[in-house]
Amino acid sequence: MSVTVRFAPSPTGGLHIGGVRTALYNYLFAKKHQGRFILRIEDTDQTRFVEGAEQYIIDSLKWCGIEFTEGVHLGGTCEPYRQSERKALYAQYAKELVEKGAAYYAFDTPEELDEMRTRLEASGVKSPQYNSITRNTMKNSLSLPQEETQRRLDAGDPYVLRLKVPRKEEVRFHDEVRGWVVIHSSQVDDKVLVKSDGMPTYHMANVIDDHTMGVTHVIRGEEWLSSTPLHVLLYRAFGWENTMPKFAHLPLILKPEGTGKLSKRDADKFPQFPLEWTDAEGKTFKGFRELGYLPEALMNFLALLGWNPGGDEEIMDMNRLIEAFSLEKIGKSGTKYDLAKADWFNQIYLRKKEDSDLLPQVQLELEKAGLGRRDEAFVLKVISLLKDRVTFIREFVHHGRYFFETPATFDEDMKKSKWNEHCPNWMREISGVWEGLEDWTHASMDAAFKAWAVQAGIGAGKVLPALRLAVTGMSFGPSTFDVAELIGKAETLKRLRFAAENI
Ligand code: GLU
Repeated sequence: MSVTVRFAPSPTGGLHIGGVRTALYNYLFAKKHQGRFILRIEDTDQTRFVEGAEQYIIDSLKWCGIEFTEGVHLGGTCEPYRQSERKALYAQYAKELVEKGAAYYAFDTPEELDEMRTRLEASGVKSPQYNSITRNTMKNSLSLPQEETQRRLDAGDPYVLRLKVPRKEEVRFHDEVRGWVVIHSSQVDDKVLVKSDGMPTYHMANVIDDHTMGVTHVIRGEEWLSSTPLHVLLYRAFGWENTMPKFAHLPLILKPEGTGKLSKRDADKFPQFPLEWTDAEGKTFKGFRELGYLPEALMNFLALLGWNPGGDEEIMDMNRLIEAFSLEKIGKSGTKYDLAKADWFNQIYLRKKEDSDLLPQVQLELEKAGLGRRDEAFVLKVISLLKDRVTFIREFVHHGRYFFETPATFDEDMKKSKWNEHCPNWMREISGVWEGLEDWTHASMDAAFKAWAVQAGIGAGKVLPALRLAVTGMSFGPSTFDVAELIGKAETLKRLRFAAENI
């Protein structure tokens, strides 16, 4: 099967997580079938154009690891890939539709359209439409004498081009996710195909581009399902129905509570953008990247948000996703946006990384925390001690600050529950014992500590939490002996003595 798919965002803002999922599914499908994957920019609605959005989309998908074979940023055989640069092509096809009698010019002013709606509503019509019945009462090339139409066109009267939707036709298409969809053409209105500024509408440009770019599968969000009958009618009007792409409409992503569609407006509450995004009002939203998610983890999380290979398999890297992906396994019902799951994936993928792969980012976090860059070998050891305990890279620093500086504060709860009046003395005694150690290793500290505890007749379990508190200031973390080995003898003894005097 030869496959061509496309991701066709409108540059109207930051790329939302729903869009990233659409791009991902298209990518997986293209890769699986060694097909073409096009990035096309649908910028026909100039009123919603947002500066920088196109570059943001490109950068975001690159970070995600979603690669195209052609498109606005890569070029290719179907150039240009920006709809605003394809106007001549649309004009040519618009003319063709008029000549075929499948589309017509409509000259109605906004006032006349309003008047029609009011009139029909008054007579009991619930949602008045410009369609096969009402078009006869309006000012268009089907209702006006031919000379009048020509006169208006010659005079440069503003007009739109509308699709002449047949009155009684069945529109059916097979959606790869939902099965057969059948509707009657009387439910579709005579949609505008070319606006009065000469720009095609989304529907017109989308269908022409998908056809001329050889798109075989349209994989897109559920919100476009209701437009598809119109698209089918357009393919029919052009005479392209035989090569019409297959459609797959992806299920909604629901709010974490599970009710209602996740919306861009929720971006305040939980992350939805791949990279940091500043909107038109100057409001900045952190991206998954800035929040410390690994792209591999985010892709695995997103892939399973609406698709499932069956069985229990959950941890799937990009190659495995490509291998397992199929349109048949896309679900029909919406899936909750459960970020706890994204965190879980992040932890898994973080653990899978080589310590050395994490090093540059940990160094960066150290710098951000004002701790400066540190000796690489030392940081690598910190990474290996903490890797199984963190979900995000920044936590190497948040949870492991004591590796890099002497703790100045001590966990309050630990103090209350584990630090008793004997502790200062115990810390002094242990520091005394450890001072005499020849080799400074986990094993030697452990042995000396145990011998001291036996001799002093104290259960090790009573002392260890206090020891951790003294050395790290924290209530949790890797073995205190490991920490002590890494920070060194002098620093450890200094901390024990400081704790003895100050906690
Ligand atoms: N430009 C549309 C969007 O912004 C594309 C929809 C489609 O894939 O047909 O989502």
